[in-house]
Amino acid sequence: MSGEKNIANIAVAIDGPAASGKSTVAKTLAKKLGLIMVNTGAMYRAVAWATLRDGVNPDDADAVIEMLGKVDFSCGVEDGVSTILVDGFYPGEELRQDAVNNRVSRVAAIPEVRKLLVAKQRDYLKLGSLVMEGRDIGSVVFPDTPFKIYIDASEEVRLARRSAEGLADEVAKRDAEDSKRKASPLVVADGAVVIDSSEMNIDEVVNAAMEVLRERGAPASMLDAVS
Ligand code: C5P
Repeated sequence: MSGEKNIANIAVAIDGPAASGKSTVAKTLAKKLGLIMVNTGAMYRAVAWATLRDGVNPDDADAVIEMLGKVDFSCGVEDGVSTILVDGFYPGEELRQDAVNNRVSRVAAIPEVRKLLVAKQRDYLKLGSLVMEGRDIGSVVFPDTPFKIYIDASEEVRLARRSAEGLADEVAKRDAEDSKRKASPLVVADGAVVIDSSEMNIDEVVNAAMEVLRERGAPASMLDAVS
């Protein structure tokens, strides 16, 4: 990735469990504020997708690490949203397929996978201010940012949201794996504001997130850019 390092760039960290609505909120917020939106789940999904393509067992950490040395994961931005290419190929909707859902938490538990992807995630800040969504953005990737939001929703609501998208995602299983792992588990980061979105629509959650940014002193230049 190219771009100048600019320490004035800020990161808005949005974490939360699967299907909590954080992607939609992150996308809407980034668009409103004119920031780059980075979807880190897609990066872990790309590694899981590569294990499927290459026939690598996701539970065999050594084999996954060996694969990381051979495969090129290249991150960029298109239309203000992060992209990831695997050996120059964009897997697109294949990143959301069941086979990827079923193994992504297992590859995400491997510390070397996290190390590689966290470095790429931090690199995005060189390109501009960001809204980054994931599981460990406020706790590990950008622990010093004051702009930390944790979006939650009841399991029932999250399952309903996934099935409304036509996806049978075992969110509870993935959350359990993501919360229990040793390396950067899903947690409410120190200083994060928790928004329970179970009974809220997207606009309400986005407004609540905007309020957090205002209260925590987000630069006026950023808040004034609101479209
Ligand atoms: O956000 P999404 O549901 O696409 O994430 C897919 C998986 O990627 C998660 O279940 C988790 O295992 C992993 N992940 C992670 N850390 C992140 C983002 C995603 O471990 N920051």
